[in-house]
This record gives sequence, C-alpha cells and structure tokens, in this order.
Amino acid sequence: MRLGNAHTHTLYCDGKDTPRAMAEAALAAGFASLGFSGHSYCAADGFGMQPAALAAYKAEVRELQRQYHGRMRIYLGLELDSMSELPPAGEYDYLIGSVHNVQAPDGSVRTVCPVDSSVETFEESIAACGGVEQFIRAYYAEYDRMLCTRRVDIAGHFDLICKFNAANRYFDEQAAEYKEIAATVLRRHCNNVVFEINTGGMSKGWRDRPYPDYWLWELLRDAGARVIINTDTHAADTVDYALREMTERAVDMGLRVVTLDDILG
Ligand SMILES: [Zn+2]
Ligand SMILES: [Zn+2]
Repeated sequence: MRLGNAHTHTLYCDGKDTPRAMAEAALAAGFASLGFSGHSYCAADGFGMQPAALAAYKAEVRELQRQYHGRMRIYLGLELDSMSELPPAGEYDYLIGSVHNVQAPDGSVRTVCPVDSSVETFEESIAACGGVEQFIRAYYAEYDRMLCTRRVDIAGHFDLICKFNAANRYFDEQAAEYKEIAATVLRRHCNNVVFEINTGGMSKGWRDRPYPDYWLWELLRDAGARVIINTDTHAADTVDYALREMTERAVDMGLRVVTLDDILG
C-alpha cells in the first residue's frame, strides 16, 4: 500500500500544527507523499489564508519540498473554495475544489449560508434557504457549478452537507429523493476529476463514515472513476486517520484508488 494524503491543513489556516510538524508525522506514518492544501481566502465568509499567510505558507511548503527530497515527496496544493477567486495557473501543484458555503435564494436575510462551520450556522442556513430540501439542492447545485466552471484536480468532501446529519437528524440520507440529487451531480463529473474519500468527519467525531458515503462509492466504482483517500487532517496526530482501513475497503470494493503521485506524476 502506497500511503499518502493530499488534504492537509496547518497553522496557516485552521490547522493546529506547522507544516514541518505535519511532514514529520507523515514521514513517521510511512507516507510516500504528502500534499498540503491550506484554505484559499474566501471573501464571502472571510475564511482562509490572507495574502501574508498565503505567501508564508507557500514559501514554507516549497522549502520542505526541498528538505524532504529523496525521503518523501511533498506537494504544494490549495483547498479552493467554490466562492474563492481562481489562483493563477501553475501557482500550485494541484487544487482541491470544495464547497463550504452556498448562496441563499434572493430575498433571504443571509446571502452566504455555511455548510460545515457549526450546528448553529447549519440550522441558520436551512432557515435562510427556506427549508432543508432547498438547502440540499442549493449545496449540490453549487457543487455542480464549481465542477462545470473550474478545473480542479480533486473534488473535495462531496457530501459535506451530511456533516451534522448523524442519525438523519435533519434529513433522510437513504431517501430516494436525496440520493437522486447527489448521484446526478456525482455521475456528471466523476470521470473528469478525481473524487476524494475524506475521513475528516470521522476523525473529528461528526460521522462514522467518510465523505462521500459508501453508497456513492458504488457509483464511483461502476463508473470506473478514480478516487484518492484523504484525511483532511488539521493536526499531526490525525495525518493518517483511517487511511489504511479506507484504502483497503476501497480496493476490496473494486475502486480505482490513486495517489497524488499518480495524478501529478
Ligand atoms: Zn473543506
Ligand atoms: Zn480541508
């Protein structure tokens, strides 16, 4: 098993550790490669790396790239929010495209509706969109728009809308109507971009399953799509959280599992 992770946060955004601490943990975990993916700055919610932090992040990761040469391949990436500006071509080794907010329909009190920041803002987003079904539809429409309009290497945490929905608290994830909305977007794009299998919701205790959920893995397998297993780690102690387990499960299920080296090499 070639271990690696392409979804890594650091102190430069909302992570807890330095890039060096993350690289040391990755090397100790036996990684062949590690990709850093700090959050892009998003004016809509004010989240992500501002110019000074971004410059320092890029310089430090490029320096680590040199220092780890021959021991572990390091890549400079960006987790590009769907509402962030597109960076100049070639500035990063790769991009993860992610949706963290949706635009509420006109006339609502809030225009930017967070998907994953807290239970409270999630509930406000449902209200601002006029109900949970509208919020779900707006989320997957934004995901679809992102993949239709920008070229990214990896599609991030596809069904993040399920983050706070443990035990179907807000909607029934097994309902045919819900599955149809998600499946339609996944099928439309799964042969054009690598979808990640993301264990971040599991390591933080929100979910007992990855993004996307296992039923969507079957669609990815049936489409012959490529997937990458990522931890979306925010701290050195979760750099390889459930990575081996998910990789084995995906391979056993017949998914085409790739690494950053495959995508970029
Ligand atoms: Zn994200
Ligand atoms: Zn992330």
